[in-house]
Amino acid sequence: MDDILLEAKNICYTYEGENTPALDHLSLQIPRGKKIACMGSNGSGKSTFFLCCNGIHKPDSGTICYDGKPLDYSRRGLLELRSKVGIVFQDPDNQLFSASVFQEISFGLLSMGMPENEARKKVNEIMELLGITPFAHKPVHALSGGQKKIVAIADILVMQPQLIIFDEPAASLDPLHTDLVHKIIDLAAAQGITILMATHDVDYAFEWADQILLFHEGKILSTGTPQEIFSNEKILQTANLKPPTILSILKHPEILEHYRKELRL
Ligand code: ADP
Ligand code: MG
Repeated sequence: MDDILLEAKNICYTYEGENTPALDHLSLQIPRGKKIACMGSNGSGKSTFFLCCNGIHKPDSGTICYDGKPLDYSRRGLLELRSKVGIVFQDPDNQLFSASVFQEISFGLLSMGMPENEARKKVNEIMELLGITPFAHKPVHALSGGQKKIVAIADILVMQPQLIIFDEPAASLDPLHTDLVHKIIDLAAAQGITILMATHDVDYAFEWADQILLFHEGKILSTGTPQEIFSNEKILQTANLKPPTILSILKHPEILEHYRKELRL
């Protein structure tokens, strides 16, 4: 089906030395051009699945298809895959390694063989768009956590991938940087880039996502629109998820009354 960008078919993956599989016959489909939230408890397999999506991990069994074709794990195949699928890691320190911000963002383009002038133009454009031009020549290690996260996103965006995976992008960010990161993600989505995001923020996922993939013990417990997932109490209980605030209030309007009195509104 050409509206499916990525499909996992029955994939299993166990880390070396572990007894329990991190991914246990996981099957799912990522539709093209959508905003998809991956939710589920810590250890449910989200990050492991992400690492399978760009070939960092190869499933022990099962298949991942990108654009209808099984992943090609040759050096060339992986290079091509990684030009289409970018991952913004949860911890930017696992992603950033160049001396300066400018060098960091240029690295991918130059290693793809882009002429220096062209790469410089693209890097300048993306730094301008994300508001990081003032740090262009700062060493990456001297940036704050929030600034590092924006540089890590610039790193991926500059490559113009078709799919960007954000692994808990707001983890350990202050509210200002969280908003900024969310705005950048929306900008990417508006350009038609398919977005896959791991998040524990039910309020955000409820409002943002086109589709939710609910991970549980290395497989998909359920998938559907935010409305479908969050109105199913049984699923929420199994996955240890709370309903979004707005749904709790709609279900229990007495909460509103309580706060109205308490705050004298
Ligand atoms: P999530 O991102 O949903 O929190 P993970 O994919 O990180 O889940 O973890 C899935 C399972 O794999 C967990 O049981 C976790 O302990 C295990 N795991 C993750 N990374 C490693 C690793 N590098 N070595 C061994 N086990 C790991
Ligand atoms: Mg994770």
